[in-house]
Amino acid sequence: MKCKYCGRRAVIKTIEGPLCRDHFKEYYLRTVKKTIEKYNLFKKSDKILVAVSGGKDSSALAYALYELGYEFEGLYINLEIPNYSEYCEKYVKELFKLLGYKLNIIRVSDYGVKVQRVGPRPVCAVCGIIKRYLMNKFAYENGFDVVATAHNLTDEAAFMLNNLYGGKLDYFLKQGPVIPEGPKLVKKVKPLYFLTEKENMVYALINNLPVCHRECPNAKGNTQIKWKRALYLIDNEVPFFSYKFVRSMLNLKKYVKYERKTKWQFCKICGYPTEAKDGICAFCKIRMYFQKQNE
Ligand code: AMP
Ligand code: ZN
Ligand code: ZN
Repeated sequence: MKCKYCGRRAVIKTIEGPLCRDHFKEYYLRTVKKTIEKYNLFKKSDKILVAVSGGKDSSALAYALYELGYEFEGLYINLEIPNYSEYCEKYVKELFKLLGYKLNIIRVSDYGVKVQRVGPRPVCAVCGIIKRYLMNKFAYENGFDVVATAHNLTDEAAFMLNNLYGGKLDYFLKQGPVIPEGPKLVKKVKPLYFLTEKENMVYALINNLPVCHRECPNAKGNTQIKWKRALYLIDNEVPFFSYKFVRSMLNLKKYVKYERKTKWQFCKICGYPTEAKDGICAFCKIRMYFQKQNE
């Protein structure tokens, strides 16, 4: 396989065609830049927080933003998952030392929660609630304009399929490269929206970035992973299915008039926004569960 631009050995086949190392780097940065500009994710003057996990996607995101000349701070949430979180923290620290940017580290136990199953909520759902809540709380309390996550095209395609399959059309319609700001809600953005998991891996590899390759021990049985496996099979049969699917779905959403039914209110306990009918946010419910356990 030869690079379509220079004829050298290609390292990956992208939607533009096969690309060598150098042309792939160019393609990668160009795609991130285009996504940021087209969807107005942020400006150079914004105070940007990048949520980093130590994995390939968020290391690639931090490095790409650095290469594009953006200044930002990192946030690592130590989820205190045994044999995993301490290990990933080392890689995140190494990455930020390389960038010379500030890294903030917080631990879930400081907020009275644990990443464990809580009643009917599976562990991955609890983890997601905790991460989203703490990202927003940290960004809001420290005056950030925007939080960037490393959600990629493969994540989005899997999430779209899961929501379409389950008839969760409101979730489906809420998806996109930007989740707008609201009262006490900091804008959330996804600069890697049009880059696949594989492209992030290759970008991290060719730039020799510190990446934690260990898989989360809770990930087994996660529905998101099942969808990703299915997408992998389809992409093999129908080249770039995930990419074209996400693009078409984004276009489709333009034709759908959508008004949110639920109204936001502020959590009676912590004061952050929630859609819960009883006025207590999911994070506070999780915290109360562990509080009761300790009594
Ligand atoms: P996930 O929920 O694991 O799919 O992660 C989604 C996004 O959240 C990642 O792309 C990261 O930007 C961010 N993220 C995941 N884990 C952490 C963590 N432990 N600390 C900070 N950000 C994280
Ligand atoms: Zn080339
Ligand atoms: Zn609350």
